[in-house]
Amino acid sequence: MSLFEKTATELLALQAEGKASAVEVADAFLAAYSAREPKLKSFMLSPDPDAVRRRAAEIDAKRKSGRPLGKLAGVPVAVKDVLCTKGVRTTCSSKILEHFVPPYDAHVVERLAAEDAVIFGKTNMDEFAMGSSTENSAYHLTRNPWDTERIPGGSSGGSAACVAGCQAPVSLGTDTGGSIRQPAALCGIVGMKPTYGRVSRYGLVAFASSLDQIGPFAHDTRDCALMMEAIAGHDDRDSTSVNRPAPEYTKTVDQPVKGLKIGVPREFFGQGLDAEIEGAVRQALKEYEKLGATLVDVSLPHSPYALAAYYIVAPAEASSNLARYDGMHYGHRTTEKGDLIATYSKSRAEGFGKEVQRRIILGTYVLSSGYKDAYYVKALKVRRLVKKDFDDAFEKCDVVMGPTTPSAAFKAGEKSDDPLALYLSDVYTVSCNLAGLPGMSIPCGFTKSGLPIGLQLLGAPFSEEQLFRIARMYESVTDWHTKRPKV
Ligand code: GLN
Repeated sequence: MSLFEKTATELLALQAEGKASAVEVADAFLAAYSAREPKLKSFMLSPDPDAVRRRAAEIDAKRKSGRPLGKLAGVPVAVKDVLCTKGVRTTCSSKILEHFVPPYDAHVVERLAAEDAVIFGKTNMDEFAMGSSTENSAYHLTRNPWDTERIPGGSSGGSAACVAGCQAPVSLGTDTGGSIRQPAALCGIVGMKPTYGRVSRYGLVAFASSLDQIGPFAHDTRDCALMMEAIAGHDDRDSTSVNRPAPEYTKTVDQPVKGLKIGVPREFFGQGLDAEIEGAVRQALKEYEKLGATLVDVSLPHSPYALAAYYIVAPAEASSNLARYDGMHYGHRTTEKGDLIATYSKSRAEGFGKEVQRRIILGTYVLSSGYKDAYYVKALKVRRLVKKDFDDAFEKCDVVMGPTTPSAAFKAGEKSDDPLALYLSDVYTVSCNLAGLPGMSIPCGFTKSGLPIGLQLLGAPFSEEQLFRIARMYESVTDWHTKRPKV
């Protein structure tokens, strides 16, 4: 296996043993990036080779000096372009922020730097994280490394594609309704959406503030745990950040959970689920049974309403969050002359893409006087019931499992004219965000045509440590997480 196909954990070991330097690691990924980027287009802003090498050399010097090294010493980490990076453009793949250069780093970017990681470029995404295929980027399409005719999923499609395609060993994404788990599933890698409040959102450009969480992409669960260890924890600058110590996830990740009870919700195996996906997920459940786990039938009776509630709550919050891009305070300003209102509306019409405009209009509508009670307030009530379903389920089981997505990666362009069809790809992922729970997707097989399939694991609040242990049990008896595509 080439250096660029290795996991972060393996790269750390090679450096600790003196078998590779941080500069050699950086060079391997810079070469993989250059060779593969014309096909994959994972990045919004390419890694700056000089900055990457300089940073890697600093880490090598630190190692030589004998000073203690961080948990991610010399590991390249790609970052979704929705996270602020000081002095480096942060566009959210939107024209409205084309020239925005943040004056500060997001909390998670600070944390990565403190752990001696090497920041490795900013990844492409759906504009303002709205989408499920990365086709809503205002700049370019990102391709699925397993089949470049197909989309990588979204909205963190670039972060998933660059790890699956071995342009970076690990990356960060964000998940508001599935944007880490869904692309992880479609690209055959591991992704985690942490409990709401586990990771600080300071410096994350907001989409829907009550749902957004930042989380990692990795080849396997051990790397995912390592990344979470680096970014989780309390931060005063995000009022929803929970003041609760973050466990050292890597210490326990290899300990299997004894007497594991897996909840299998019947609502996740109904109409619309592709037969090959169902087959692979059921097979994974059988593997768990062989490992000693018991399957428990659970019901999430309100899950059929979760998607509708999500597509009211998320646009409502987005319409408010995106009000700041008016060409005056923030964002692109039209060059056409006009009065204040005309300048606002022209700037926004020029700066925002179609899907973002659709969400702003939807969100403004469901919050408007006369409609608020019928839509927004009702959706909040459904959200409460979705949460209660999970509370009830976790009385009977330790983890809920099912498919991450109803089907495998689709062809670019296949669903771009049908927003509703695209919204349906989130059918199994949005409940987790509405309920504020941690969720993971891990690879559990391939379709006959060679496309990856994801198994979703949902846990009670702050059960990340247990989720990692449960995911790792599966990796100990399967090898899906070791597969790499030929790009
Ligand atoms: N696909 C969902 C949407 O378009 C989720 C996006 C996300 O999690 N950022 O809103």
